[in-house]
Amino acid sequence: MVFYSPGRTSNYPDYPPPQGIRYHFLGGANEVGNVGCVFEDRFGNRSLLDYGLTPSDPPRYPNESPRIKNTVVTHSHIDHIGMVPWLCSNYNSKIHGTPLTAKISRLVWNDCYKVSRIEGYPLTWDKRDIDTSLDLWNTHKFNEKWEMENWDCTFRKAGHIPGAAMLKVNTENHKILFTGDFDSRDSPLTKGASPEKCDILFIEGTYGGKNHPDKNDTIKEFKEHIVRVTDRGGTVLIPAFANGRTQDIVMTLHKHLPELDVHVDGMGKAIAKLQMEHPDELRSVEDLESAWKWSRRVSSKSDKRKALDSDCIVSTSGMLDGGPSIWYLNRLRHDTRNSIVLTGYQAPGSGGNMLLDEKKVNIWGNKTRIDLEVKQLSFSTHAGHNEIVKFVEDCDPENVVIYHSDPETARPHLDSDLLKLGFNVESPMNGDSHIID
Ligand SMILES: [Zn+2]
Ligand SMILES: [Zn+2]
Repeated sequence: MVFYSPGRTSNYPDYPPPQGIRYHFLGGANEVGNVGCVFEDRFGNRSLLDYGLTPSDPPRYPNESPRIKNTVVTHSHIDHIGMVPWLCSNYNSKIHGTPLTAKISRLVWNDCYKVSRIEGYPLTWDKRDIDTSLDLWNTHKFNEKWEMENWDCTFRKAGHIPGAAMLKVNTENHKILFTGDFDSRDSPLTKGASPEKCDILFIEGTYGGKNHPDKNDTIKEFKEHIVRVTDRGGTVLIPAFANGRTQDIVMTLHKHLPELDVHVDGMGKAIAKLQMEHPDELRSVEDLESAWKWSRRVSSKSDKRKALDSDCIVSTSGMLDGGPSIWYLNRLRHDTRNSIVLTGYQAPGSGGNMLLDEKKVNIWGNKTRIDLEVKQLSFSTHAGHNEIVKFVEDCDPENVVIYHSDPETARPHLDSDLLKLGFNVESPMNGDSHIID
């Protein structure tokens, strides 16, 4: 854990670059999540893109940010906004984001605070800092021009989750695009991101070296598995992240298996409500609304018990680390007709990872054997390797900076493919400063 001492533990240079643009990753360069990127021009105009944390065990935090007046938040995942309350309470930084991101941030920060208490990990901010941060939001709609210092800025849709933005910045002599987390493929909730001509492209490389299976094949496998389990009288527990994944899964079930009885639990319920208030940030608000009406929301203990007899339960946490999904698992585990479908990547140390490796999950402090059939499918909304390369080609920049990417398993593949195509590729490390003239 880094104990920040504002202005004293930052290694960010205290003078502007002589020319061009300086960028400096506080975190999230050679790692996935935990993002914070400072960029600054020769006039000393300085901004921070995202400031998150990774709620792993132990959690990871980015380096301390220098004094900052403007922070841009690309989207409302904790690995991009988790440290914003610290920024706001120490520097009174304005926060720029889309209206939906601003609304969801309150839920995400409150949940992060609650989880840090339960899990016993330290945070550098407290509940009052959430209120300070909420007052500092400056929201901007997609495709509307706004100014930050002397830069022209515009948010473009990033796909990924509703409200997620790519930031386009025009400085004195550069057109810069930061993708944030992005996907150029459509998902049930969002339309895929479109490329944008620029000369410096900062692009996330989570899936460097990996391609997603065809979406139709994944849905077919998902459907067949659920039908098999429900036909034998079982219930399928589907752990899913609250912000994006829960709604994508409910919409997929509604579209492909409308005859099923599906119950939804966890913070994904409140997030869906906020998403429906922002139809312009969704691919189709009607599709979300009808899927939502069709599913049953769990809101009491008796609802929870009823859900145990349903066909599918979609619930947080997505990696079986606490939340209602553990409550359900503890009851469903006794009947081997039941099954679990993991809907994405399971981080090392997470409950889902332990389930895959050891057939065990930590249930309220006890490592408990789980003899249920487990299936893992990817419903990722990050661009895969081929989509990333194609996106770079279509943006056609002079400089590509790959971030949010594992330095061993992901980045080298992107580096080599992009170099072959003639791009000037940079793969920065956390804590280093770079200048692009
Ligand atoms: Zn991320
Ligand atoms: Zn994200």
